[in-house]
Amino acid sequence: ATDALLFKEVTGNIIVLEKKPSNQRLKGLNLRPDGEKAWPKKYPFCGGVFQSPIDFRKDILQYDSNLLPLEFIGYNVPSTDQFTLINNGHSVKMYLSPTMSVRNLPFEYTASQLHLHWGNRNKSEGSEHTVSGKHFAAELHIVHYNSEKYPDIAAAMDKADGLAVLAVLLEIGPFNPSYEKIFRHFWNVKYKDQKVLVPGFNIHELLPDRLHEYYRYEGSLTTPPCYPSVLWTVFRHPVKISQEQLLALETAMYCTESDDPEPLEMVDNFRNVQEFHERLVFVSFHEGELYECSCAKKQCTVICVNVKNWNSSPAALCHYKTIKEKKENYRSAKTNPGQNISEIKDDLDLSSKVG
Ligand SMILES: [Zn+2]
Repeated sequence: ATDALLFKEVTGNIIVLEKKPSNQRLKGLNLRPDGEKAWPKKYPFCGGVFQSPIDFRKDILQYDSNLLPLEFIGYNVPSTDQFTLINNGHSVKMYLSPTMSVRNLPFEYTASQLHLHWGNRNKSEGSEHTVSGKHFAAELHIVHYNSEKYPDIAAAMDKADGLAVLAVLLEIGPFNPSYEKIFRHFWNVKYKDQKVLVPGFNIHELLPDRLHEYYRYEGSLTTPPCYPSVLWTVFRHPVKISQEQLLALETAMYCTESDDPEPLEMVDNFRNVQEFHERLVFVSFHEGELYECSCAKKQCTVICVNVKNWNSSPAALCHYKTIKEKKENYRSAKTNPGQNISEIKDDLDLSSKVG
């Protein structure tokens, strides 16, 4: 089996993952996990600074009170408009309407396209960004360009302030009818360069709950040429899609054209996390545990933050927001050393942890 690429699983089983690509095929992006090591030779930025994706580990996160909730303009696209969905040979991409934009970033950014990254059916990892080393099943990127300074995405993509990408982490859960508005068309874009029209819908439906909680940092495109031109907003809370929907994403498409005698499955099109030297990720939320509770018999959300050295003993600062009153209240509750935060009882019932 000299012309087959052997892949050793963690279990020790050796399976044939795919046929070794022909020389002709190596002209492509070569998005295999081992392929990205070769990117810097042809695309120097890929070996440079401010590279993405990264792992959001606790010691690089810094709360920033200036991070406002984003505003989404024109995201509700009427069904009379149509988006073009295309298999570009390394992902599935949907062109967005130039009437869509995002505000509350340093500039106004206009939408260009969205696309996805995913793994394969044999593993649970497919996201590009990770949280404390944990991968999610897949990741959606909604790409915008700085339309205040640049006439189009081509002019913006290699500029330091050129792009803003919104990233949504995807995990397994119930069937997601909003994602299905894209996913049900995968069968029409199985092969490279195939296109299909998708009726307009509200792109906001693809975003997670609690949109005001996100990670923000300056990074890069995660595919060649890896320009360090992206202001990243990665939403803290994932969106759920069903196991069947994830499987469709992982199995429906090929990197190759329909007449290629050696079809190459479109799998594992995520880049590995990059080094993150002397940089910080700014977060719009207080790192902490999130609890659901009822306070004063009204539904509310409580966010409990472990505060080190608060009055020289471990403490929890609870920030709770009543949904009904739309009013914010702050409380603090001191814990005894070693006490679990869920044991705190004030007039709050911190019974069910939700995230
Ligand atoms: Zn991407």
